[in-house]
This record gives sequence, structure tokens and C-alpha cells, in this order.
Amino acid sequence: MAQENAAGEATRPAENGTFDAVVIGAGFAGLYMLHRLRGLGFTAQVYEAGSGVGGTWYWNRYPGARCDVESLQYSFSFSEELDQEWNWSEKYSPQPEILAYANHIADRFDLRGQIVFDTRVTAATFNEVTDTWLIETDRGDRVTAKFCIMAVGCLSAPNRPAFQGKSDFRGPIYHTGEWPHEGVDFGGLRVGVIGTGSSAIQSIPMIAQQAVQLTVFQRTATWSVPAWNEALSAEYLKDAKAHYPALRAKARARPTGFYFPFNIQPALQASSEEREQQYEAAWRRGGLPFLGAYGDLLFDKSANDTIAEFARQKIRDIVKNPATAELLCPHNVFGCKRLCVDTNYFETYNLPHVKLVDVSKTPIERFTKDGIVVDGTEYMVDAIVSATGFAAMTGSFDKIKITGRSGRTLAEKWSGGPRAYLGLASEGFPNLFMITGPGSPSVLASMIQAIEQHVDWLADCLGHMRDVAANSIEPLRENEDAWVAHVNDVSMVSLRSTCSSWYVGANIPGRPRVFMPYIGGFPVYVQKCNEVMNSAYDGFVLKGARSNNAPPRVRFTERWHVPLDIEVISPAAVAAKRVPVV
Ligand code: FAD
Ligand code: NAP
Repeated sequence: MAQENAAGEATRPAENGTFDAVVIGAGFAGLYMLHRLRGLGFTAQVYEAGSGVGGTWYWNRYPGARCDVESLQYSFSFSEELDQEWNWSEKYSPQPEILAYANHIADRFDLRGQIVFDTRVTAATFNEVTDTWLIETDRGDRVTAKFCIMAVGCLSAPNRPAFQGKSDFRGPIYHTGEWPHEGVDFGGLRVGVIGTGSSAIQSIPMIAQQAVQLTVFQRTATWSVPAWNEALSAEYLKDAKAHYPALRAKARARPTGFYFPFNIQPALQASSEEREQQYEAAWRRGGLPFLGAYGDLLFDKSANDTIAEFARQKIRDIVKNPATAELLCPHNVFGCKRLCVDTNYFETYNLPHVKLVDVSKTPIERFTKDGIVVDGTEYMVDAIVSATGFAAMTGSFDKIKITGRSGRTLAEKWSGGPRAYLGLASEGFPNLFMITGPGSPSVLASMIQAIEQHVDWLADCLGHMRDVAANSIEPLRENEDAWVAHVNDVSMVSLRSTCSSWYVGANIPGRPRVFMPYIGGFPVYVQKCNEVMNSAYDGFVLKGARSNNAPPRVRFTERWHVPLDIEVISPAAVAAKRVPVV
């Protein structure tokens, strides 16, 4: 029977069930994990803080939100029927369509019945006697599960800087990662946008179309490449679908987990005229593949300087006011922070009602009731958009009290930076798994592919545990340490390790600076996961198993057995092979 809470909202009775697995999060990771668990006959429950499925695409409803990996590849690949039946309308589809796709997945695979919405998991505690997890929620649920699977997302905990005077501001403050479902009408308003990362770059041109005045507060100028987004014709889709399995296979062999033309040649081996032509052609193709213009752009600073200068010249060509253009020109490594992909971002600064305020040397001082103060000047705004990003990779872990063996919490263990074997599990926390956890390719790959590979590996692992009647699985400390060191060592060959990005936690004051995703490339990583699985989980301890050496029955991971595309072996992949992993 429905109950009511103090605010008169409908609630539900708290639950005390027992499951084989509890999954936290109903984004793409949680949905696919549930699908696999059901297929294996495991009982499972998913808890989701939001009122619907889709994760990122449920929360990030700001104007202009869309993917920046082409939709034909930013989608699940586990079902050929699904690939054939779903039609993407645009090269980079907008948020509502991606959310509709997530809902389609939930319906098509009959997943909703096992998802509990509007419920945030607050604690997970391991019981060493029963080898089970007690999972508690903000709705009073206390359920037990053998496996606790974290599908909480890498970019799901909004970063809200503690600006002084925030509560003084009279207007609304919106965070892009928690956008109102009913939308926001900025018509007739003076709007301030804080931040110039991907979320800001997508929303600024759209907000500028409505607002009477738009002030952008920029701390770090951003590299961005045009998307050249377009509608996908029926003819194009038909042709693409005819070759879909081949495209998926090519994508899996790529360091990024998605396919695009890649030129392995080093930039400085080309003449400056050749480079100019190559960059121009790549700019015309647009998007993240721009970085595929040469093979060493993220590994050799001198090579990087050439693409950086090309991109700066593009900004100067687009932006008419020379002072604004210079302010918009980044001076850090090209592509060091996540590269942005835009539609009319730089062009927006040619509009008379759009103003750029530099907060790199003089940070935002405070909010007032009427606006934002920088360097003694008050900028009057009616609404503020905080496009300030996320506590990436570990932010949603931090919000749950996760207690493992001997009463040690994950927060204590990770106080110096996250530590996980293969980004899948952490020593001291048996039967706790993470999908796209720190130390896996995750955000450096097309994330749906990274999610699928993790889920398939986990599904085979859980199936194996049942086959050999194991009570628990946990990484060995020495293997975890070696993997964490390997992740760090490999990151050093990339220029990406050199700047203050969210990849290293630098966007959140006080966070330890650790390169969190695995940069050795998706296929190298997959190979390592497969080796671990084929050796009956080398580096893990399976407690109570009938036989520790039985080779696992491979049900789902087969499709990930692909060689690295030799045309695109990157220095990071070479380093990943060279740097030893115990
Ligand atoms: P999420 O989608 O983040 O889902 C996690 C879910 O867990 C959320 O719904 C959250 O509410 C829930 N949750 C967290 N903690 C709890 C808790 N304690 N209790 C209950 N529920 C909880 N990646 C790409 O590869 N290509 C792109 O083009 C791309 N575009 C992006 C655009 C934006 C605006 C953002 C923010 C990210 C983008 N990403 C992109 C990354 C994106 O996050 C992933 O592609 C993918 O959607 C992640 O899916 P997920 O299920 O792992 O996590
Ligand atoms: P972000 O990249 O972390 O950008 C946050 C912005 O806010 C940065 O410009 C940052 O400046 C600024 N900022 C933070 N704190 C500030 C402060 N106190 N004062 C002034 N400025 C401040 O976050 P995001 O744009 O939400 O993107 C996060 C990730 O999500 C992306 O990198 C991408 O992986 C994904 N994403 C993808 C898309 C897409 O195109 N499909 C769209 C959105 C998001 P600094 O740079 O100086 O820190």
C-alpha cells in the first residue's frame, strides 16, 4: 500500500530482501548489468537515485546536450537486432534521443521490474561471516546481496564550487548535470555561465539564442573542434547497418574503442604544407577524430605544438574581436583536458550580447544578490548556469559509506587516490565490483563499449563463481599494487598526464593528484582482462571454490578477443606492453 512521507509525497514500504546481486545505478552500465544477470538466472535488484533510467542522459538535460562520439558507435553492440532496429536521427544525437534509447533498452529487455527508482544507496557493508553485502538506502531499505555492483558512473557527482555569497543571489542557479526536467526559458534574461568545458561549450550557443545578455566566466580556455553535426538520411543508415558488425569489430580494435580514420605518421615527419593540409582535412571531418590527424599528437610536445597553433589560428579566424579571440586561445597541450566538440561555440562570441570574462588570474570573488563579482566588477545576471563539471571517477563512490573487511572503508583506502585491480575490484572489498572503475579505460574510451566489456567480463566471472561454488572473490594486494603502478607508469608517456584536468582529480580542491583512467588503450586492457580470466582469475583469490584452476566457461567475453589494430598502435600502447604488470 502506498504511504506518504512528511511532505505528503507518495512513498513505498522499505524493503528487506535478499538477492544474488544488487546493482547501484541505472545508466547504461546498470541496465546492461541487469540484463546479463537476468540472463544468467541470478536474482538482482537495481537502485537508482533518479526517477528514470539513462543516468547521464537522465540528468544532463541542458540545452545543446548531445554525445560527441558518433551515435552509430555510442550505442550498445551486444545485440545485432538492436543495432538493426534502432534509428539514430543525427550523427551526434541529442540528449532526448539518447534518453529515449535508454528507455527503449529498459523496455525491450524487460528490465524495469527490477529497478527501484528515487532511491539513493547510502551504505554498503561487507559481512565477513556470510560473505554478503548489506545495502542500505535513503528510503530505509536494508537488503542483502552476495555481490554489490557499482554502476554509479564516472561523471555523475556534480561539482559545485563553494562560491562566496551563493545564498545571497536572488535568481536561480542551475547545474548542467542536474538540469530541470521541465526545461528553462532564458528569454528576456541576463545569464551568467561559469565554466568552458564540454557542457558549457554545448549549452552556450543555445543559451545565447534566448538570453538578452550572456556573460561567460572562463578560467581555462578550451580546445574545441566543430562537430559538423548532421541529420542521418535513411539511405546512409541503411548502408551503415549493412556493415554494422564490421564497424563494431573495427571499433573494438581501436585504443579508444570507437573507429575513425587515424594517421599513424608522426606530425614532424611531414612538411609544414603537408601538415596544414592534413589538419585542414581533419578539421573538415571535425569532432574527436581531429586528434587522429597524426599518430604522436598526444605524445610529443613539439608535434602537439603544431596542431595547437593550427587550432588557435582557427579561433582567430572565427572570432572577430582580437582581444576576445586571444582570451579564447588555449595555451596548454592540445587535447590534454578532454577535447570539446561544438556547434558554433566560438562564433557565439561574435554576437553583440555575449561577453567573455577572464577569471584565470582573478577568480570569481563572490556572488551578490544581483550578480557575480570578479576583480571588483559586478556583472549583473538574472540566472546562473554552473557548468562546473563533476567530481570525476570517484565522486559517486565517495557519497556511499562502503565498508569492507575489518571495518575499513573505501574512502579510507582511497584517501591517497583510488586503488583497484583492473579498475574492476579493490582488495579488502570482496564481491564488490565497479563498472568502468578507476584504472580501467572508461572515460578514455567510448564509454558504452567500455561498459559492455566490463559487464561481459563480470557476467562470466559471476557465472564461473557459481560453477565452482566460490563464496567470494577479491584481488590480491600485490597484483592490485602492480596494476595501479602500471596505470600510473603508462600515463606518464602521454602529454595528458601533464595538465590540471579532471582525469587527475585537479578540478576538485584537496583531491590527491592521480591519473585515474587507464591510458594504455582499450584492446591492450581487454587483452589483460582476458588473460586474467583465462588463467582462472590470476591476481584474485576465490574463497571456497571447488577448484581454483578450472578454466572459466566463456559465455560473453568471446567477442572482446580482438587484436590491437596494428595501424594505430600508439606510444601508450607500446608503453603498456613494455611496462611490466605482475
Ligand atoms: P551514469 O550514466 O552516470 O549512471 C550512473 C547512475 O547511477 C546515475 O543515474 C546515478 O543517479 C546513479 N547513482 C549514483 N550513485 C547512486 C547511489 N548512491 N544510489 C543510487 N543511484 C546512484 N561518454 C562517451 O563515451 N561519449 C559521449 O559522447 C559522452 N557524452 C557525455 C555527455 C555528458 C553531458 C556527460 C556528463 C557525460 C558524457 N559521456 C560520454 C560519459 C557518460 O557518462 C557515459 O558515456 C555513460 O553514459 C555512463 O553510463 P554509466 O551507466 O556508467 O553512468
Ligand atoms: P568540465 O570539463 O570539468 O568543465 C568544467 C568547467 O568549469 C571548466 O571550464 C572549469 O575550469 C570550470 N570551473 C570549475 N570550477 C570553477 C571555478 N571555481 N571557477 C571558475 N570556473 C570553474 O565539466 P563538463 O563540461 O561538465 O564536462 C565533463 C566531462 O563530461 C567532459 O570532459 C566529457 O567527458 C563529458 N561531457 C561530454 C559532452 C559531450 O560533448 N558529449 C558534454 C558534456 C560533458 P578549469 O578548466 O579551469 O577547471
